[in-house]
Amino acid sequence: MKSLLRKKLSYKKNYKLKLWLILIIFLLLILISVIYLTYIRNLTLDNIYTSLNEIGTQNADKLNLIISNQKKYVSQMIDSITDANFQSPEQIFNRFKKDMEDYHFNRLAILDKNGNGITNDGLLISNYPKIEEFFAQDEVYLSENRPSVVSNFQVNIYSKKFSLSGREVVIFATIKTEEYKNILSKEVFNGKGGTYLINNNGDIIIDSFGVDTQTLVDNKNIFDINNTEILDEDININNINEMKNNIKNNLSGNFYIKTANNKYFINYEPIDTNNWYVVTIAPDTIIAKETNLFLLISFIVCILIIFIITSISIYIDVSNKKKNEKLYNLAYIDKITLLGNESFFKEKGDIYLKNAVKNKYIISLDINKFKALNNIYGYEFCSNILKVLAEKLINILPLDNITCRLGNDVFVSIFSYRQDINNFMDKIYTNISNITVNNENIHLNLAIGIYKITQEDNDINKVLDKATMARAKIKGQYDKNYYIFDDILESTLIDEQKIESSMEAAIKNHEFKVVYQPKTFVKNEKFAGAEALVRWYKDDKIIPPNKFIPLFEKNKFIIKLDLYMFECVCKDMAYWKEKYNFVPTISINVSKEHFIKEDFIEDYIKIVDKYKIDRKNIDLEITESATIEENIDTIKILQKIKDSGFIVSIDDFGTGYSSLSMLQSMPIDIIKIDKVFIDKANLNSDKNIINYIMSIAKHLGVKTITEGVEKKEQVDFLKKLKCDMIQGYYYSKPIQKKEFEEYFNKNR
Ligand code: C2E
Ligand code: CA
Ligand code: CA
Repeated sequence: MKSLLRKKLSYKKNYKLKLWLILIIFLLLILISVIYLTYIRNLTLDNIYTSLNEIGTQNADKLNLIISNQKKYVSQMIDSITDANFQSPEQIFNRFKKDMEDYHFNRLAILDKNGNGITNDGLLISNYPKIEEFFAQDEVYLSENRPSVVSNFQVNIYSKKFSLSGREVVIFATIKTEEYKNILSKEVFNGKGGTYLINNNGDIIIDSFGVDTQTLVDNKNIFDINNTEILDEDININNINEMKNNIKNNLSGNFYIKTANNKYFINYEPIDTNNWYVVTIAPDTIIAKETNLFLLISFIVCILIIFIITSISIYIDVSNKKKNEKLYNLAYIDKITLLGNESFFKEKGDIYLKNAVKNKYIISLDINKFKALNNIYGYEFCSNILKVLAEKLINILPLDNITCRLGNDVFVSIFSYRQDINNFMDKIYTNISNITVNNENIHLNLAIGIYKITQEDNDINKVLDKATMARAKIKGQYDKNYYIFDDILESTLIDEQKIESSMEAAIKNHEFKVVYQPKTFVKNEKFAGAEALVRWYKDDKIIPPNKFIPLFEKNKFIIKLDLYMFECVCKDMAYWKEKYNFVPTISINVSKEHFIKEDFIEDYIKIVDKYKIDRKNIDLEITESATIEENIDTIKILQKIKDSGFIVSIDDFGTGYSSLSMLQSMPIDIIKIDKVFIDKANLNSDKNIINYIMSIAKHLGVKTITEGVEKKEQVDFLKKLKCDMIQGYYYSKPIQKKEFEEYFNKNR
């Protein structure tokens, strides 16, 4: 719970950390995507080159097959012409007419050395240009593209010379250059790419159907790939030069070139004829399309993951914040005043102590007789008093004040103040002691303890103790309102520290001794029992209980001491039973600190049973103030004690603020009236109070004892009031065991 405040303080830090974490995850995702994309891209690149190679070789193979078939056919034609001894071109044309279409031939022609001749469709040709080129070949020859002399398209010519009727002639089987397009793959990469048939000078024999690539190679030579568009010239020129070289050496290859808008992947594959090459080109867009899709998917996935992570962490943050706030409020906020509570004060105060501010003060404040106010005005009204007081306090104290409510009516504040603290406290006191609640003006009797914090102070508990000590010093004094921790308190504190450091050893060394103060029946002045009281024998001196009991109550050592005393008493009682066959009724003080353990009485039972003492001979005195402890079910505890067989007394009755009506519901046997009432017994009003208590006690069937009776008049007075017992110096002071034995043997 305590760490919640720290949690709250470090919340911002955590938030920053989370932001960093999200950023790191984001960057990591981006990095992974980049690596992934590069990998995909390389994979696609490899794929592209493989596909390009495949298309290139397929096209080359197809071309090789067709061209060689065509060549073979031309060669067969010549063989059959020679064998059949044809006499005229018409005879020859007729013979081969039907096969022309199968071999994609467009025309046949026979020409003489002068370039004169006739075509199969009867067209006359004269002076065919560069006819010697064809007569220079011995084998079947395939020409480069050239314009047809009889039609207006490009053709390639298969030719072979032979002798017709003794004359040397050449046969032409022409093919429309366009026909190669039908042979080559039309759809390269879904029509995005293209194929070319080129000669080894880079001249394009057939261009591609591809649209994209058309723009790349818009002239007639592949080596002159549009230079103006080229971006990275060095790489492109090197690549093209390498291609030129490879083509010279009849090698195949792959490369890419970049233009301003695009990147092209190129494959070149030789075919068997005329050092021709099949060139396959694919634009980058096809790769980009694939990678872009991956990029898009990856990006969407990234964004989605980040979105999910962020949403989840925001959700967790918000719900944590809400939960923390709830827990925080529970753990640190006082519900009534909305100030911090004790835990809050200790954590914040600890931090405040460590800062370098000078002139720091801590004040502890409470309202005198707040319990009585509660009884008079009721719980809700008094809660409003606390609220108003809290508001006034934080408004009048310096801005840096940390003000909290420690519980009940106790407020603490820590702040810095440079001017005279006495004046300031006077001002505060006048301001906050008169308040208006529900239109009613209330004067509060406040007790304020102040401690000036020094540079050496670094423990919030210690400075708080000092302020509380100073407050205790003023508590109940009506002429002073505040007390500033001084040397007197400092020495008390030192004494207390000495006591605390020696208390454990004191038990071991049996420094605590029991004294017994006899009680006397009023009616016959006979012995009525005794109260066991502690004395501390330290270094031959007796330390009176008021010097250490309050301290032991604060540090809870009283629990141990009470049980130790109880055992001493039981031991004595067992001894008296043995020695005198008489067991006096002994009352023993039980501090209210025991009440934090609801079944503490079990510890007493164990001891009393150990010494086989009758429980009805033991009277446990519980102070009246114990009966109005908050959060403790005193009635239940008292009932347990009574049910165990012990006598139950209410000690110091009249000094606490329990209402007389409460008496009715309390399971008690004896009311012990405090000596303050008997001290002022000659005052008529107080006489009446005792009178009143007596009559109620009688009415409830509860016995009464008055303590602190010193004078004869007091005895007489109590006799008149029919008080049951008296305890006081008048009969005996508290006495040692031996003396007490003599006392009861004489008076019983
Ligand atoms: P208390 O329980 O009210 O005890 C009565 C106190 O009044 C005793 O003081 C007693 O010596 C004193 N007293 C008795 N008759 C007279 C008288 O006629 N005139 C005056 N002026 N005083 C009288 P003592 O022994 O100093 O004890 C003081 C307080 O210390 C006790 O008040 C009790 O609250 C506490 N105390 C003493 N012994 C123990 C103990 O063993 N356990 C616990 N928890 N508290 C103890
Ligand atoms: Ca007592
Ligand atoms: Ca008492």
